[in-house]
Amino acid sequence: MVVEFHNEPATDFTNEENQQAFKEALKQVKAEFGKEIPLVINGEKIFTDDKYESVDPANHQQVLGTVSKATKEQVDQAMEAAKEAYKTWRKWTPEERAELLIRVSAIIRRRKHEFSALMVYEAGKPWNEADGDTNEGIDFIEYYARSMMELAHGKPVFDREGEHNQYIYKPMGPGVTIPPWNFPFAIMTGTTVAPIIAGNTVLLKPAEDTPLIAYKLIEVLEEAGLPKGVVNFVPGEPKEIGDHLVDHKDTHFVTFTGSRATGTRIFERAAKVQEGQNFLKRVIAEMGGKDAIVVDENVDTDLAAQAIVDSAFGFSGQKCSACSRAIVHKDVYDEVLEKSIKLTKELTVDHTEGGSDVYMGPVINQKQFDKIKNYIEIGSKEGKLEVGGKTDDSKGYFVHPTIISDLKSSDQIMQEEIFGPVVGFTKGENFEELLEVANDTDYGLTGAVFTNNREHWRQACEDYDVGNLYLNRGCTAAVVGYHPFGGFKMSGTDAKTGSPDYMLNFLEQKILSEQF
Ligand code: NAD
Repeated sequence: MVVEFHNEPATDFTNEENQQAFKEALKQVKAEFGKEIPLVINGEKIFTDDKYESVDPANHQQVLGTVSKATKEQVDQAMEAAKEAYKTWRKWTPEERAELLIRVSAIIRRRKHEFSALMVYEAGKPWNEADGDTNEGIDFIEYYARSMMELAHGKPVFDREGEHNQYIYKPMGPGVTIPPWNFPFAIMTGTTVAPIIAGNTVLLKPAEDTPLIAYKLIEVLEEAGLPKGVVNFVPGEPKEIGDHLVDHKDTHFVTFTGSRATGTRIFERAAKVQEGQNFLKRVIAEMGGKDAIVVDENVDTDLAAQAIVDSAFGFSGQKCSACSRAIVHKDVYDEVLEKSIKLTKELTVDHTEGGSDVYMGPVINQKQFDKIKNYIEIGSKEGKLEVGGKTDDSKGYFVHPTIISDLKSSDQIMQEEIFGPVVGFTKGENFEELLEVANDTDYGLTGAVFTNNREHWRQACEDYDVGNLYLNRGCTAAVVGYHPFGGFKMSGTDAKTGSPDYMLNFLEQKILSEQF
């Protein structure tokens, strides 16, 4: 019997005891800098000669750890291990698998500041964002474990005279998990544990920028008693092993979260049936966003401005759900813009190890830094740079929160995903036009609408083409079990993480029909 699901509560950093505990965790993590991270294949730790470094994005000379790189041959070995482990793991009952994973979340919960503190260094997360990331990872485990228990005996179908029918769920086989760096614990954990709770086995290739936090999960899985080969850890260069993982004839599914370019590449490649492959691969691809907050006339402009700023700049805008477009009714445009600028000027940017009051840390790496800087330059020509625009990569990759106003929907920075602390403002004549602009993007992940007009909200529910639509709040901060997450259009396959249906992504349905 397991207790009812509840979300892991956020740590209250106004409490002095929590502050101290988190500082201790930062110290502990710091003491472990320089650690060597192996591959893990069939439970065996393998240290390779070819390695790469994980660094602190707020202080890029600081090496946090050294990571072994898997070769294609090692991917093949990991696949063999996953195939072998699948033979027995799939026969554990769903309850047995779920119970083991609940042990995993219990271990993480006891050590949760240590996980969050590592993300302060490895991903540049502010304390509250790192805490949220760890909590969400715990939520995913707890939620999916219960979901699988509910599916353990299938769903009812009709019997008829002389015939008994069962509709049951079974796992698919070994597959591949490819997570991003931006929720390096939560997404990596959710997309690794869901397939294994379902009875599949996994090759986990962590994001290049955040392998250390991924390895912490591997350690806990081992500690909790996960059988060897159920999760194999194969960090490495995506150029070297990415296609190989996806193309492998024994890969039954790929669960990917990341950019549109990589997601579409994986989707295409996985569609090709390889020699020796006698099934079709399933691809779960959760990709980018160009999310907007739409502000109607006659709304509380303080609330709208606060939501825009929080959604645009939380974790430096490096969320797929981040608000990168503010689409505002002409009657309140100046007011919302002015209030947003004022709030933005109050935000602090620094190394987030400095304390829970540092609002924003660095962006993740040089490539992202250069890309964001370039978009700020483009945006400053397309519109008017109102605040921010300052960048400095001398020590860490710092980009200040930036607002660009007076843009058109067709402008480059209103169309392309920036994935940094930059929000563009544009105005519209009426609600119809605001919605049109909101939909004028290839993406369809999240969106928010501020309105006091119920007809307008109804119109948005019908016509605003996003997977997650919110009223009178920001467009980030989906909560497991409350706001299942996933997008339309080029934002992906709408897998809806944290939903009652998510486990179905990793299961096949089987009918057993007996006549007597
Ligand atoms: P990315 O596509 O560069 O990398 C994602 C993962 O794919 C990494 O593990 C990377 O190593 C791997 N990869 C890269 N090339 C590969 C290849 N050829 N074959 C196989 N794997 C390969 O994305 P990123 O920069 O890590 O993440 C940011 C992106 O993720 C943004 O676009 C963001 O919107 C998106 N994202 C989406 C969601 C969602 O739920 N929709 C959530 C978080 C992030």
